[in-house]
Amino acid sequence: MSLPVRCLILFLFAALLVPASRAQAGDDIELTYLGAAGWKISDGRVVVLVDPWITRAKYAGPGHPEDMRPDYARTDIAPVDTALVDSIVDRADFILVHHTHFDHMGDVPYIARKTGAKVIGTETAIRILEAYGVPAEQLYPVQGGEDYLFDGFSVRVIPSIHSALNEKRYLDSRRYDRTTELKTPLRINEFIEGGSLMFYARFAHHEILTMGSMNFVERETEGLRPDILLAGINGSRLGLYRFDERLMAATGYPPVVIPTHWDSFSLPYGFSQQANIERNLIPFREGMKTISPASRVILPVPLEPIRIEAMR
Ligand SMILES: [Zn+2]
Repeated sequence: MSLPVRCLILFLFAALLVPASRAQAGDDIELTYLGAAGWKISDGRVVVLVDPWITRAKYAGPGHPEDMRPDYARTDIAPVDTALVDSIVDRADFILVHHTHFDHMGDVPYIARKTGAKVIGTETAIRILEAYGVPAEQLYPVQGGEDYLFDGFSVRVIPSIHSALNEKRYLDSRRYDRTTELKTPLRINEFIEGGSLMFYARFAHHEILTMGSMNFVERETEGLRPDILLAGINGSRLGLYRFDERLMAATGYPPVVIPTHWDSFSLPYGFSQQANIERNLIPFREGMKTISPASRVILPVPLEPIRIEAMR
């Protein structure tokens, strides 16, 4: 047999042994919805928490049903249900914080101290965490535009904007910085927005675009091609111009779309979310049949892990 023919046979044999993709069995990713904009995401290598708010205290505000008496006023000291947090979070390598309202940030100081996780968030987020005594080496202040490489994980920080609360009469430009005096524990209303972000989180075999609000800056998301979009879909988006259509187009009609921040976030786990399922989830899934028919829309059940197969 001539040398070229032998080389060709060897090449064909080698090609049979090499899988078509880098992905292997066991490279699935697991996403667990924590309610509000909260997620626990793990690919078996790294554990990433996004806006983990597990305490879910009944406090007065836009996320609380009008017909139910809240347990806390917004001027009360912010509670943390450490036993409940401990039962759900035992490890975290990273915590991504979209913004610092109580329903996103309230449990982060406790979880950061407990797990030693690296926290990526705005300067306001970092100031709050410093005030709670989280060591500086865990803290990564960002403003959007950063693209940080870590071991087994990288994350691009996307500049964003907050949900258009109060019928679009919402803008909070307050920020904390290193000169801001904060007395901990903070009161609920001291968890100010502090600016808003999204995250493009890259795992070994998945790229996930996360949202913590029902709003986004279109030009900042154009060209992003996530496998999985955690799409903010609460009711305030309905006052925005063609929100679902623009979001899907800008992000390339992601193969998997999972609604986030759709619940009544100040109701503890176990309370019925049926009203929000009917108001938010079902119409969104229906609309997606025409807006992005190839996308798989998964309706998350709080605390029930969702497994997604390797895509890269
Ligand atoms: Zn908020």
